[in-house]
Amino acid sequence: MREAIFIERDGILNLDRVERGQPLPPLVLEQMEPKTEAIEPLRELKAAGFLLIATTNQPGLSLGSLSRRELDRMHAILSQMFCLDDFLICPHSADDCCPCRKPKSGLLTEAAFKWHINMERSFVLGNKWQDAQAAHTVGCTSILLTSPWIGKGHRDIVLDNIADAPRKIAQFQSPARASQIVAGY
Ligand SMILES: [Zn+2]
Repeated sequence: MREAIFIERDGILNLDRVERGQPLPPLVLEQMEPKTEAIEPLRELKAAGFLLIATTNQPGLSLGSLSRRELDRMHAILSQMFCLDDFLICPHSADDCCPCRKPKSGLLTEAAFKWHINMERSFVLGNKWQDAQAAHTVGCTSILLTSPWIGKGHRDIVLDNIADAPRKIAQFQSPARASQIVAGY
């Protein structure tokens, strides 16, 4: 079985646009600002053997404010820039009550089935509480980057800087860490 880093797109791979305090996704390619500081940490994680799988809620697809063509243009660039293995999208709006819109975990379970992923040895990297909740549901370790939207719910790790993610993940994976958990420290 493989191990994966599930990466929330908006806020990790590209900047959140913020309007009236709410994060908004880019709707056209020209609005998308890739976060180049994520390239090197994700390259390290890929080199360590992790699948890199981006997940994203894009309700604009069903609401009509986002075209599939623009989304495909954006994802082609992000996939190449960050060497992603897969991109999973929830196209539904909150009213659709689908099983894949985060904080629900449908995108994660879909990816796990498709790629034969060991969830307990995989990580969710995001900057919103919905990512941590989805991770918790399926047994992944959650890593949230500090943002106004991380909330107060369960999460395993909070980081100020994505550059620290590979080291933190390695610590979580190490036998020393595992034996500490077994010993109840
Ligand atoms: Zn959905």
